[in-house]
Amino acid sequence: MSGIRTVLGDIHPADLGVCDAHDHLFLRSPRLPGQELNDASAARAELEAFRAAGGSAVVQWTPYGMGRRAADLPLLSRAAGVHVVCATGLHQAAHYAPESLDGLRERLAEVFVSELTEGIGTSGVRAGLVKVAGGFHHLDAHARRTMTAAAEAHHATGAPIAVHLELGTGALDVLDLLCGELGVPGDRVILGHLNRSPDLVVQRQAAAAGCWLAFDGPSRANHATDWRMPQAVLALAEAGFGDRLLLGGDTAVAGARSVDGGPGMPYLLRRVRPRLVAELGAEHVERILTGNPARAFAVDWR
Ligand SMILES: [Zn+2]
Repeated sequence: MSGIRTVLGDIHPADLGVCDAHDHLFLRSPRLPGQELNDASAARAELEAFRAAGGSAVVQWTPYGMGRRAADLPLLSRAAGVHVVCATGLHQAAHYAPESLDGLRERLAEVFVSELTEGIGTSGVRAGLVKVAGGFHHLDAHARRTMTAAAEAHHATGAPIAVHLELGTGALDVLDLLCGELGVPGDRVILGHLNRSPDLVVQRQAAAAGCWLAFDGPSRANHATDWRMPQAVLALAEAGFGDRLLLGGDTAVAGARSVDGGPGMPYLLRRVRPRLVAELGAEHVERILTGNPARAFAVDWR
């Protein structure tokens, strides 16, 4: 059966509802000292604020070893009344203590498959997607190895692969590797952070490969390009790719939660949605927030 794998079990894609397709309830990284998302009551308040703004589902892109707190997600999801999908996968090496990757790289595909089908650690919570990461206009050996394992996990399970594009770059290199060399269908790949490199031609070329384009933010770190997002979304919709677009908040640090400085998850519905309605009309934006994620994260699990 085709289903979206939430932390409370598989659901019918039509039941997903209005979805924040790229966000984080929990995240820690040596690159972001002192800014960890590691407070369960703040995570619950954020989810409740998203729900109050009309949200129904959040997809957490935090991968393996970055403080996902998988065991806490079912309770939070139930308490807030919001579907939560969580990830397996691996980020850039810089997000890990070097010794924590010892022995892991050789069995990455095995770890990804196990987290998708059996559960994360002893939590019993299964991941619904694989998150990986490219580099700045470049894929290093770590990225290639991680993406190869992700492709293997996709072929074994059907799970979609979500990609952090460093500053929005490298989209075509990622697609050459995942879809060209490794045989992952375009519609099983979700490219994130496209607003960070607003090259409309590259975005159109990526969309033409059949993948999903996720626009996420805004954030202080990417303020220089975040404001160009509505024009990029409009250009893609006008080129006929409105059915390949996703939207997310990407709350990656504690100070970005709406309950602790903002803009956070509710901003997606409070301000981003009406801004896009001004470009595309309400019906089209509703499809991007509801119908598109329902298809992007639905899997014929095998
Ligand atoms: Zn993210």
